[in-house]
Amino acid sequence: MMGLEEKCSQGQSIIKDDFSSERSVCPINTSYGVGYRIKARVLPYLIGFIYLVPTVDSEWIMIDSGGGSEESNTDLENGFRIIREEFDRSFKPEKISRLCLTHAHVDHFGGVSEFKRRTNAKIAVHAFESRLVDSYDEVARVENCRYVNFLLESGVPFDSIESILDGFGFRAGRVQSVTVDEPLYGGETIDSLKSVYLPGHSPGHLAFVCENVIFSGDLLLSKTLSQIWPARMTPQTGVLNYVRSLLKLKQIAIDYESLNGQKLIAFPAHEEPIFDIPSRVDKALRGMERRNNRLLKLFSEETAPMTLWEILPKMYWSGCPNREFFALSDIGSRVELFLQLNLLRVADSERLSRSNPAIRYQLSFANAEAAKNTIKQVVRMCLSGDKSNLI
Ligand SMILES: [Zn+2]
Ligand SMILES: [Zn+2]
Repeated sequence: MMGLEEKCSQGQSIIKDDFSSERSVCPINTSYGVGYRIKARVLPYLIGFIYLVPTVDSEWIMIDSGGGSEESNTDLENGFRIIREEFDRSFKPEKISRLCLTHAHVDHFGGVSEFKRRTNAKIAVHAFESRLVDSYDEVARVENCRYVNFLLESGVPFDSIESILDGFGFRAGRVQSVTVDEPLYGGETIDSLKSVYLPGHSPGHLAFVCENVIFSGDLLLSKTLSQIWPARMTPQTGVLNYVRSLLKLKQIAIDYESLNGQKLIAFPAHEEPIFDIPSRVDKALRGMERRNNRLLKLFSEETAPMTLWEILPKMYWSGCPNREFFALSDIGSRVELFLQLNLLRVADSERLSRSNPAIRYQLSFANAEAAKNTIKQVVRMCLSGDKSNLI
C-alpha cells in the first residue's frame, strides 16, 4: 500500500483541462492527497461522478455509489480497475471503509446494497434521508401517494398520473435497502472530510469538504440549474431553502479563499468541476430569477387562471415523459413561493372540492413588474435576516 506521504501532493494544483468528461477516471490533487473521480452512467439518460478520497489510515472514502443499474455498477467497477492499473497498484475496493452519500436520490445511492455486499463499508447519510436508505420501499410507497395528491391538485388528468410517476421512477423494489451506520447532521469531521448541511435540492443534502475541494453533490452544477421541489411536498426543499444553501456555499468558498489564499474547487455529482464557486452561484441565482420572471410574465399574459398542468407546456417542452414530474415540481416550487409572497391567488376556490381538486392560479398583482421587484426584495429580506445560516 502506498504511504500517505507518497500520495500527498501538496503544491500540485487542480487544472481544468485534466477533467475532460471523456475520461472514465480523473485523479484529483486535493491538498490532503490524491483522490479520484469515476464517471458512471448513473441513470439511463444521466452521467454522474463518484468520488474517492484517501483517509488518514491509508483507506478510502467513497462519495455516492451511482444508480445501481448494471451500467452504473459496470462503470464503477471499470473505474476501480483503471485506478489500480493506471494510478495506484495498491488500490482495491475492499479498502473503501466508508460510503458517504451526498443525498438519497437514486442516481446517488441506488448502488448502495451491491457496494455494501462487496466491501462492508460503513454507510453515512444525513439523518433526514436515512429512512430512504434503510426503508426504501416503505418511503417510496408513502411518497408516491403524496405525489398523486400533488398531481391531482396540479390538474393532471387522472389517466396520465401512472405514466408520469412511472417516468419519474421512484417505485418500491427499485433499490435494495441497507442499514445506515452513521446518520449525519452536517458539521461532522469524517476522517479526511468535513460534512456541510446544504438542504434545498433534497431535505438532507450534504456536501463534503476535503481541504481545497468540496464535493457538492447536486446543489450546484457547472452548467444547468439543480432540480427543486415544492417544500410542501418535500420538507426542507423549496426555492428559499435552496437559495439559502447556495449563498452558504458561496460564503464557504469566499471564507476559504481569504483564509488560505487559494480557491476552493467544487466537484459536483454531475457536470464539470467549478473553479470559481462565487461567480457560479451568482450565475445560478440569476438563472433562478430569470425562470421566476418567465413564470410571472406568463401569468401576466394569460387572462384565464391556470393549473400547473396548463402552465407546463407554456413554460417547458413536455415531450419527454420522464421529465414531466421534474418540470411540474419546478413550477410547483415557484408557484409555492409566489403564493407565500401573496403574488398569486387561487381563482374560483369555491369550486374546489374533494372530487375536483385541481387548483387554478392567477396573478394577484395588477403589475407583473412590481411583482418581480417584490420577489427580489422579499427573497433578499428573508435571507438577510438569516445570516447565522450563512456561516
Ligand atoms: Zn439529486
Ligand atoms: Zn443527481
